[in-house]
Amino acid sequence: MTEPVLSRLNANVVSRVTRELEDVGVHIVIGTFVDNSGVFRAKQVPASKVGSFHSPGLGAAPSWAVFAADDLLVLTPAFSVVGDMRLRVDLEAVRNLGGGVAWAPIELADQQGEPLAHCARGVLRRHQADLEASGVEALAAFEIEFTCFDPVTGLVGGGPAYGLGPLLDRSKFLDDVHESFAFAGLKLEQVHAEYGLGQIELTTEPAPPLQAADNYVLARVVLGRIARAHGVKLSFSPKPLVDGIGNGAHLHISYTRSGEPLFSGGPGPHGLTSSGGSVIGGLVKWLPESMGVLAPSLLSSTRLQPGHWSGAFACWGLDNREAALRLCGATPGNPRGANLEIKCIDHSANPYSATALILGLSRRGMEEALELPDEVSSDPGSMSDGERALHHIVSIGADQITNIEALQSSQVVRDVLGDVLVDAMVAVRGHEAEIAKEETMDALVEKFRYAWSA
Ligand code: GLU
Ligand code: MG
Repeated sequence: MTEPVLSRLNANVVSRVTRELEDVGVHIVIGTFVDNSGVFRAKQVPASKVGSFHSPGLGAAPSWAVFAADDLLVLTPAFSVVGDMRLRVDLEAVRNLGGGVAWAPIELADQQGEPLAHCARGVLRRHQADLEASGVEALAAFEIEFTCFDPVTGLVGGGPAYGLGPLLDRSKFLDDVHESFAFAGLKLEQVHAEYGLGQIELTTEPAPPLQAADNYVLARVVLGRIARAHGVKLSFSPKPLVDGIGNGAHLHISYTRSGEPLFSGGPGPHGLTSSGGSVIGGLVKWLPESMGVLAPSLLSSTRLQPGHWSGAFACWGLDNREAALRLCGATPGNPRGANLEIKCIDHSANPYSATALILGLSRRGMEEALELPDEVSSDPGSMSDGERALHHIVSIGADQITNIEALQSSQVVRDVLGDVLVDAMVAVRGHEAEIAKEETMDALVEKFRYAWSA
């Protein structure tokens, strides 16, 4: 069972962890915090000091919650220049990256050691604990797409899409990906050249939600190190180039109750159980007001367009790659069993907030026993507006301002993530929307290309 709060390890355990890290040659521990603009912030300590990084934690200004992607602090009454918080690493999640460096994720506490309500990892931890207490367990994994740029020429590699060529062109880099991921304990499921020029995708094994979000962050940290070693720049921007397909961070999720899957083995379409149907019902219903969390940046809507396989419509369908929710069925060809791929998420989202929101909406859908909406088994983008209206299919590729307003007034999202976290997101994304008013799309793509790169 997941603990609802980050526990404080006793002195003996802390000494043991410290010794174990030092014994394998670790001399630096990096802790990462993903902020509300999706940017990775970090502090590091010598390995001997990892105990104080765990508890009481290192100091940071509360305004870290309202850092924007361009590094401006969007101060609010709740997050001002006054106050202090503690950045606490979770020592149970620490991983050795090799080269004398280890990594651990950060949670936020106040000066008294109490968890802070706006800590996205803490919110996810509580949602996982609540879900487990209700008898439901989840497994999740992010797909990670990114685009490789030459730092000098700015050029990306060539195709063909899903080709062998781009894999061979980048074989030294990719060898290192396999080796470094294995070293860090990240089990790769697959790696391939994606459709976009210079675009690579990799996927790691499913894990319980908190660990899945950590795995995603760890993968991004490891990729950041490898990129530097190989002289390549990686863009995780939803729109790395003005033309072509974007970078997604699709989340696959599956649920079981007493070991029985909710997305298969039931009486509904494709074996969906009534709870599985309610999960999908909740997500379809509340996705439009969730986009300010899931695809929240000033570039996100340019990716979330029909024909980009990014899931630009709030609907579901078996293996429908234009639906925001692609049901992957329990077929012999699917060794992991049935799961739901939430395609509309991109890397500008905070992975902890995004995962917490998906868990919270799933649970609420089950609690309200929502009906499974009609399946969409064709491309919603090729339908007329009238046809989409007939099938209650809503576009989620709205502009950022519309998404921020929908988030701000969403009681459901506020119930799941809490007002203080939602208000921080609204503040930083509102600032992005102001930037976007002043610039052309080409300039924004250029300016924010590496905003979400570690
Ligand atoms: N690159 C697409 C996106 O932006 C996804 C392509 C795919 O289906 O993997 O989400
Ligand atoms: Mg892909």
